[in-house]
Amino acid sequence: MVSESLSITPLFSGSSGNSILVQTRGRKLLVDAGQNCKKIVEALSTLSVMPDELSAILITHDHIDHISGLDVFTRKFGIPIFATSSTWRGIHAAERKPHDEALDHTISTGETFTIEDIEITAFDTPHDADGSCGYRFSSEGKSVAIATDIGWMTPIVFESLRGCETVLLEANYDKDMLWNGEYPYYLKKRIDGENGHLCNDDCAKTMVALCKAGTKHFILGHLSKENNLPQVAERTVLRAMEEEDLFRDRDFTLQVANRYIPTLPLF
Ligand SMILES: [Zn+2]
Ligand SMILES: [Zn+2]
Repeated sequence: MVSESLSITPLFSGSSGNSILVQTRGRKLLVDAGQNCKKIVEALSTLSVMPDELSAILITHDHIDHISGLDVFTRKFGIPIFATSSTWRGIHAAERKPHDEALDHTISTGETFTIEDIEITAFDTPHDADGSCGYRFSSEGKSVAIATDIGWMTPIVFESLRGCETVLLEANYDKDMLWNGEYPYYLKKRIDGENGHLCNDDCAKTMVALCKAGTKHFILGHLSKENNLPQVAERTVLRAMEEEDLFRDRDFTLQVANRYIPTLPLF
């Protein structure tokens, strides 16, 4: 069912909650815990994964849609947690009861660390949460990366994604849907701003460049419920690819991460 080699399986994706399973040859990591503990456990069980099989939970930033289940999950299952120092401040401020601090690992962006046989590099993301980051994972010569909650495609984010076989990238909103939509002006400015979220067009441009650099598998993630649709995001990427003579299932695969249920890898 799920690939033996390094793979990304989103459990949930979007502003209602984000959690992603990364696995390779029996090693399993979770990136973010943005749904309640019960839902995370249920989603893992549909993939035949037990919580105590997880080697670690890596947190991208302290927004609620990335940490809402962390507090209970951690106290229940005692999995080591990795986050930047600023994100740790947010996690501790949000938790209702303290957890065992022996589980806490503080990481720095730009530095590579290892969990079992997986090499991991956290990289800075431009977002309105101090210490926010994305992650690149490498094992046995293969790399995959996750980047959501990014206001714009910085050179650091792009370089961190370049050369990965699989990339999960944010396609948060369609610009027309956002600016013609119901959100208040300040929120539209925030989402479209340099520390907000990535729009479909910028996601598509990035995917074209990544595809030309060798990326084979793309997952669109963290779609807005109000300002995007899976078909709209997908069409934007496919059009941009086709303009550069890159075609789905010939040059790359493309999936949209489901909002509420796990999205199994195609390969
Ligand atoms: Zn966020
Ligand atoms: Zn988010």
